[in-house]
Amino acid sequence: MLSSLSARIAAIGLVVLIALASLAGLLVDASRQTSQSFEWAGHSAEVIETTEAALGDLREAESGQRGFIITRNPAYARSFAERVESSARNIAVAVRQTADNPLQHARAREIATLMAQRAVFLRQPLVLARRGDFAGAVAIVASGRGRELMDAISVRATGFLDEERALQTSRQDAADRRLAGGRRLAIIGAVVVALLVVGSFALLIRGIRRPLATMMRAMTALGGGEQDARIEGRMGSEEFDRLARGYNAMAERLRTAVADRADSERQLQTANAELHRNSETLRERGSVIELLGGMSHRMQAARTDDELAQIIKVFVPRVLPNLPGALYAHNNSRNCLVPIASWGGTAVAAEGFAPERCWALRRGQSHSVAEAGRDIVCGHVGADELYHCEPLLAGGEVIGVLYLRGRIEDENRFRMAVLTENIASALVNHRLQRSLREQTIRDPLTGLFNRRYMEETLKLEIARAARAGTPLSLVMCDIDHFKRFNDEFGHDAGDAVLQHVAAEMRGRFRDGDVVCRFGGEEFTIIAPGTTADALAGRVEIVRRAIAELSVRHGSRSLGSTSMSFGIATWSEPMARDGSTLIQAADVALYQSKREGRNRATISLVAA
Ligand code: GH3
Ligand code: MG
Ligand code: MG
Repeated sequence: MLSSLSARIAAIGLVVLIALASLAGLLVDASRQTSQSFEWAGHSAEVIETTEAALGDLREAESGQRGFIITRNPAYARSFAERVESSARNIAVAVRQTADNPLQHARAREIATLMAQRAVFLRQPLVLARRGDFAGAVAIVASGRGRELMDAISVRATGFLDEERALQTSRQDAADRRLAGGRRLAIIGAVVVALLVVGSFALLIRGIRRPLATMMRAMTALGGGEQDARIEGRMGSEEFDRLARGYNAMAERLRTAVADRADSERQLQTANAELHRNSETLRERGSVIELLGGMSHRMQAARTDDELAQIIKVFVPRVLPNLPGALYAHNNSRNCLVPIASWGGTAVAAEGFAPERCWALRRGQSHSVAEAGRDIVCGHVGADELYHCEPLLAGGEVIGVLYLRGRIEDENRFRMAVLTENIASALVNHRLQRSLREQTIRDPLTGLFNRRYMEETLKLEIARAARAGTPLSLVMCDIDHFKRFNDEFGHDAGDAVLQHVAAEMRGRFRDGDVVCRFGGEEFTIIAPGTTADALAGRVEIVRRAIAELSVRHGSRSLGSTSMSFGIATWSEPMARDGSTLIQAADVALYQSKREGRNRATISLVAA
């Protein structure tokens, strides 16, 4: 069986061509034979015709001879010669025509001979008659010799013609048979060729339709999304096998391409999600930074530790949600971490804890316990607690610690890092500001408020007292014979006395009272809400305490001290800038000095 479809088509074409050629050859041969048979039948008819014509001419010659002899009419004798000649010519033709048939040929020649003899015999009486010897002519005719010869010719001619007619009939039959055979051959051949063509094409179409249907099924399935649709097995021809291989390769490439595209889409989606996450993180970080900016801004503006604590309490839970905790900072002597603020219900000990109790402070880096038992727990934290301690660093120095309860996730680490940085710098800034402010309002030697602060505060307190109608009193005081300490023990000893006296006074006045160093060894106390009389009792306590003070400088005792006081209360006619009140207290102070020192005098200018 041919494996190639085109070879099969060529083979079918060749077979059909050979069949058609064979059929044509057979038909041509049958037609040739039929035609020959008809020719032979026609030939026999011609032989019969020429022989009959020869016989007819001879009879007419005979009747012409007889007519002339009997009637003596020369008209009868005129056509005699023509007839004899025509008869001889026709029988000669018949002799030639039968040349292919020896028997008939011999018979024809015999007839021709007899006819020639008969013609000679007929001419003899005619010659006599033309010479006028009609009697002699009649005698020859009457002799019967001519009749015998004519009978012999008739017998021979009848045999010859019968034979020829029989031949003609058999040849005509043969021609008819061949014609019918030709027709049958044409019909059968046409049917056979038609069947051959139909059968071949049916086989060919079957060989195309089956693989075509297989391919269409596979392609329809592939078009419908079945990526695994393949053409399996042999397709019945090389061409369809090649097509199937081509289709399978295409489907495979398509699947790879689809898989690649799906893969690319997945990667793109992952990248998009990553980008989205990153942009979300960036957005969140942006808002966290904005939040921290707002927090820093407020912390910079905070005046007191309390304000600072409030700001931290509000903002830290917003930056680090769900993470309760507390912020501790070193105290001035750096031996204790004191709580600045706490949030989320975190309980803190007001006294704080020693730096050694926190591993973050000891190591100067983050310390966390994210799983119970995974790391050492700080002393300031409960035993099984999960927590994180982040040291607050400023200028390379640890200034405090951020303590958070719970586990810190990645994003919170970033927030915590920025937060601690912000808080650290805000704390440092706050402390710096406080120290600068202290420097401007505090007297460096005694730590009391200075004169400028006293004058500003006095103006504010007078305004407040005037507005509220509450009393306001002022104490002016001066160490008695202070010069003596300087003179006897030196300037440093004098400073020590000033510091001791200042400390004594700071601790003995009320919280709202403003104790200031007015200048030299003179001090001022602003006492809002108090009258001079009410204040006199406290002044008395202070006076006694100072009088009992025994100041030591180094190894030496500097002896006892005392102080004189002048107390005045502000009243409406007095200047609102405080100068009149100071003056009144000063007058009272000098009265105390004059009256022997170590005493207090209430100004008479009081309302
Ligand atoms: P009185 O009882 O009249 O007030 O006598 P006093 O000696 O206290 O008064 P005086 O005004 O004569 O002397 C005050 C001295 O205080 C003069 C000055 O040298 C000294 N002094 C002022 N400021 C300081 C300071 O900051 N340190 C020291 N050590 N001495 C100071
Ligand atoms: Mg003085
Ligand atoms: Mg003095």
